[in-house]
Amino acid sequence: MECLLCGHHKVYGHGTTSKGNVRYECPKCKKTFVETLDTIYYHRHIEPVSYLL
Ligand SMILES: [Zn+2]
Repeated sequence: MECLLCGHHKVYGHGTTSKGNVRYECPKCKKTFVETLDTIYYHRHIEPVSYLL
């Protein structure tokens, strides 16, 4: 699993969201996100970066 935000090769499980989706935390950019990225849980101010994928 790569970081969806910065592309770091390793992210860690960081619990689950209220909907039961696995949340990940990136040790490089220090952001948390869910796998789909369409429901960023903590960092709603971050611009979507899907155009980089
Ligand atoms: Zn990252």
